[in-house]
Amino acid sequence: MKTDIQIAQEAKMKHIKEVAECLGIVEDDLEFYGKYKAKFADSLWEKIEKRENGKLILVTAINPTPAGEGKTTTTVGLGQAFGKLGKKSVIALREPSLGPCFGVKGGAAGGGYAQVVPMEDLNLHFTGDFHAITSANNLLAALLDNHIQQGNFLNIDTRQIVWKRCLDMNDRVLRNIVVGLGKKTDGVVREDHFIITVASEIMAILCLAENMQDLKERLGRIIVAYDYEGMPVTAEQLNAVGSMAALLKDAIRPNLIQTLDNTPAIVHGGPFANIAHGCNSVRATKTALKLADYTITEAGFGADLGAEKFFDIKCRMAGLKPDAVVLVATVRALKYNGGVLKADLGEENVMALKKGIVNLEKHIENVQKYGVPCVVTLNRFVTDSDAELEFVKEFCEERGCEFALSEVWEKGGEGGIELAQKVIATLESKESCFQPIYEDQLSIKEKIEKISKEIYGAKEVSFDTMAIQAISKIESLGFGNMPVCMAKNQYSLSDDPTLLGRPTDFTIHIREVYVSAGAGFVVVITGTIMTMPGLPKQPAAERIDVNEEGVITGLF
Ligand code: ADP
Ligand code: MG
Repeated sequence: MKTDIQIAQEAKMKHIKEVAECLGIVEDDLEFYGKYKAKFADSLWEKIEKRENGKLILVTAINPTPAGEGKTTTTVGLGQAFGKLGKKSVIALREPSLGPCFGVKGGAAGGGYAQVVPMEDLNLHFTGDFHAITSANNLLAALLDNHIQQGNFLNIDTRQIVWKRCLDMNDRVLRNIVVGLGKKTDGVVREDHFIITVASEIMAILCLAENMQDLKERLGRIIVAYDYEGMPVTAEQLNAVGSMAALLKDAIRPNLIQTLDNTPAIVHGGPFANIAHGCNSVRATKTALKLADYTITEAGFGADLGAEKFFDIKCRMAGLKPDAVVLVATVRALKYNGGVLKADLGEENVMALKKGIVNLEKHIENVQKYGVPCVVTLNRFVTDSDAELEFVKEFCEERGCEFALSEVWEKGGEGGIELAQKVIATLESKESCFQPIYEDQLSIKEKIEKISKEIYGAKEVSFDTMAIQAISKIESLGFGNMPVCMAKNQYSLSDDPTLLGRPTDFTIHIREVYVSAGAGFVVVITGTIMTMPGLPKQPAAERIDVNEEGVITGLF
């Protein structure tokens, strides 16, 4: 069997201007990054702004296993299948981070015969967007420390600095560090922290900003620290906005690449799906909706985190209306939710499947709560048995839910035709009555309770004293109307990663709450959330290589 990278390297890519042409985009509206990558020039938006929107399809999933269960693969394959049916469609994805690429998960360009290319470029550096975000983030950190060094006129309490440095790498030793050691001219000594670039608030801002002006306003509102009176100190007060925006000038423009079948794919932005909202940029999604009849986009992790934030944060802020949801399940993940160990997922086990399928049931119910029509798809693995596939199909049909098997990993677009047809039939026969799960005016506590009870299925919510204090402070500073961004483990509907399936009678523990004022949401932390991951015992990086001709191996 060929690896993902072998399949990707055999792709017959078209020049990106030809890919753009099938969306009616002319060369003048592109900025080329070599032959196979381009950014949209600002002139494109001016031309298409007034057009009607096409349909917006969100791909989300049940709670994943540690391996990732094929949302990106399904998104890409569905786009390829629409192409095979002669439909005008665009895929809108997130950009991968180097952290998981060199760590456990590998890249994020899809898999098998459903991939976007050039996959090596996408997974490594791409068009430099993450570099720009890292630089803007660290410029702000440098300006902050310099302000303190130069006399600290803003009265910043160095024990209450909340802005962290960032790097697009899994590097655990940088989680907690001390900066400013040395002589008087070497800065003021303080504890500092690194996060991974995708966890930077600037990543979330870039993904939510409508345009340059909105980007600047959001950058200005970033809270970097609190002063000795407990009042926020912002990036605006440090005069950091103009230079940060200058660094981001190209990064805010969406990138265009192609699938293995040369269908267009817009890949732009990549925020974390726990402390941030986990979907590609608003600009990319809005551009896609103007260019194609069908836009297919993905949200990170399972539907409890990814879809919830896509709906309650991204769609709310950007005024987007999703028309359908494709809910990805795998027999493997359902068995995992039924208690099977990762190593044993390849063996037939209908009993475990029956036990774990309650997880799918809950996610179907959740999507219905938002009023968006839902199609369940089973991403087929070669180890799945016919009995297992049949069981899931019946389960969905008994619940009046559309179902389609997807074989895009093995067969590319051909393997997604049944799914594409089901999606089109759903779009034509069922109307989306989308609405977010909570209103802006609810208190922060009420919003948290609503998500915990309605979406996760919790019995109650407990708040640590620190969290209660933080909430009242955030509300007194005037941020109470913002949506909440829940940070929770992705494996369970609860905040305990070992409670699989569809847990009941559990409590969600709120430990920490803070505001990302620039992004425009209040981050709510349950459990412990890692914002600077580490590398595993055998990092993927040890198997990656490049030869004299520049051909890369070992990426996956
Ligand atoms: P997600 O977006 O849900 O995190 P991905 O689509 O990135 O998941 O897939 C994760 C990994 O699983 C990729 O390496 C991909 O090649 C692999 N994969 C996805 N679908 C299948 C399948 N049907 N059979 C085998 N491997 C698959
Ligand atoms: Mg993915």
